[in-house]
Amino acid sequence: MRVGYGFDSHEFREGIPLKIGGIALEHDKGLGGHSDGDVLLHAITDALLGAVAAPDIGALFPPSDPKWKGADSAVFLREALKRLHDAGYSVANIDASLILAAPKIGPHATAIRARVAQLLGVRADCVGLKAKTPEGLNLENAAVAHVVVLLEKRKAPKKARKKTKRP
Ligand code: MG
Repeated sequence: MRVGYGFDSHEFREGIPLKIGGIALEHDKGLGGHSDGDVLLHAITDALLGAVAAPDIGALFPPSDPKWKGADSAVFLREALKRLHDAGYSVANIDASLILAAPKIGPHATAIRARVAQLLGVRADCVGLKAKTPEGLNLENAAVAHVVVLLEKRKAPKKARKKTKRP
């Protein structure tokens, strides 16, 4: 088994769409960034990469590369998933905490968990998601995500049984 941890933060900006966990949310501001600014998918991606000691999201998808401008962050997550599969692992479960003042995540939590589960190829009950407001942190204009992931060794495919010749 392997454990991975990811962290990310993005600043809210006026006039851009908000995407968290691959879901578009109604809000008057979105999260700035070179890609679509999806703070949760970025933290998940780094947790997956960290679990197999792969280079981090910034090294694999540098913001200096115009190719990733406005990119769907699901692309980053899929690459991380491919790397851990190649290393012989699959995702057992993840647990995430989001810290943001607004919008409220509660009404969207089921949709976010379902989308993240779909992207990871796990059941929705393998995706934990808590949302907290930044009490006393003075982080009213930012969204922060912390994620832990547990990986398990992939089960080897069953070998086809050889037919034994009767004597
Ligand atoms: Mg980020």
